[in-house]
This record gives sequence, C-alpha cells and structure tokens, in this order.
Amino acid sequence: MSKAFFIDTTLCTACRGCQVACKQWHDLPAEKTSNRGTYQNPPDLSFDTYKLVRMTEEVIDGKLNWLFFPEQCRHCIEAPCLETAGDASAIYQDAATGAIIYTANTRHLDADEIIESCPYNVPRKAEDGTLAKCDMCIDRVHNGLLPACVKTCPTGTMNFGSREEMLELAEKRLNVVKKSKPKALLLDTDTINVIYLVAEDPGLYYANAVASRSPAFMTRHIALRRMFRPLTRAASGLS
Ligand code: SF4
Ligand code: SF4
Ligand code: SF4
Repeated sequence: MSKAFFIDTTLCTACRGCQVACKQWHDLPAEKTSNRGTYQNPPDLSFDTYKLVRMTEEVIDGKLNWLFFPEQCRHCIEAPCLETAGDASAIYQDAATGAIIYTANTRHLDADEIIESCPYNVPRKAEDGTLAKCDMCIDRVHNGLLPACVKTCPTGTMNFGSREEMLELAEKRLNVVKKSKPKALLLDTDTINVIYLVAEDPGLYYANAVASRSPAFMTRHIALRRMFRPLTRAASGLS
C-alpha cells in the first residue's frame, strides 16, 4: 500500500527538529552556515541535506507573516526522475511504500538531466555526480517505525501513514484552517505522496512549492522522448 506524508505548514514553528533528525538518522555531516539575514540555514538542499525548513517573511494584508515550508522530495506517483534514469539499479520505486529511491549507481547517470527532470528541483549531486535526496527513511518504515522527521516533529506538522489516511487527514485540516485562512489549500495532491497544506499563495513560501510542470505529464513526455530518440538519431545519421 502506498505511503504518504501530510505536512501541515500552518502548525510549523520552524524549530528545525525534522532537519536535524534527518541528518542524524542518515549520518549526514553538518554544513557550514552563515548569517545571511534569514533563519533559513543552510541556504538550500544539498547532497548532505535532504530536508530543509524554508522560511520567508511576507507582509500579507498589512501584517508581517513568517511562512515556513519543511521541504523534501515529494515521492511523485509517476516520478519524472525515475523515468529519465531508465535504470532501476540507480533509481527505483520501492514496491512496499511507493518511495522513490536513489542508489550509489546514480553516479553513472547524467546528473544534470535527472535534476532538470524534477518539477520540484529536489535532487542534488556530489562532486563525482552521485545524486541524493530524501529516501522516505524506508529502512525505518520497513521496520514499522516512522520516518525520523515525522517522529521528531513536536507540533503535528509532519504526519505519515497510508495515502488514504493522509488524504483524509489533509482534507479534515483544510476544512478547519479555511475558517480563519480562506486562501488555504492542499498542493498537487493527485500526483505526489507528500501532501502540503499552506495557508497562503504557495509561491510566497517557495518558488517550487508546486510543480513547475505536472510530474505525470513530464513522465509521459520523457517516455515518449526515449521511444523516439533512436529514430531521431537514425534520421540524423547518428548511431
Ligand atoms: Fe516544523 Fe515540525 Fe520540522 Fe519543527 S520539526 S520545523 S515544527 S516540521
Ligand atoms: Fe523525483 Fe523530484 Fe519527484 Fe522526488 S520530487 S520523486 S526527485 S521527480
Ligand atoms: Fe529525511 Fe527521512 Fe524525513 Fe526524508 S523521510 S526528509 S530522509 S527524515
């Protein structure tokens, strides 16, 4: 049965417990940070940072708002990165959870092509071209544990369970939040397994809060391109 996250950003305090728990569980090194005039640190996802609490300050209806967006791979139902790779030894979908998993063999792929294919700008590469991102903590999940970021979240922002349960919870919370925040909405629920609830225009949180292009559309486009690539190459005299 497919697993999913429900991330209720309206409850997030940006404590960054999830970000630290992710690093601890995966034994990832800390990154050098600096005061850039924002609470968000490090500045971006990286090969060593799979989870990042994004933060922006926005004046909405004359009031200053802090908007927090705990970001990670969306584990797309039809993942464009997986379709682009076309190599199950490098990127595969875990049958038990639906998680999209990257292995060390990603170093044999065209890293930039994989990164370009992601409509949420998630994968990051090491110097040797190996790619990394959130793995849904499938080692924990396969052993009946919650993902580290969910386990550590003290506010109820991070939730995890079957896709059906998470969709139901998301709809329930949306109905509650809408009473005080009428612009509240759920993001890209039909195509991904990380369901975000935001109270304001998603673009205010982060440019890639919603997909730049539909993951399912991109996946089909990539599959077609692969199918016709040999014909194009033959027509242009390439072998
Ligand atoms: Fe937000 Fe929970 Fe992460 Fe803290 S642990 S930053 S409350 S999602
Ligand atoms: Fe792949 Fe990006 Fe979708 Fe994650 S969000 S599964 S990296 S396409
Ligand atoms: Fe990190 Fe695991 Fe949470 Fe993914 S599910 S962001 S790998 S702690």
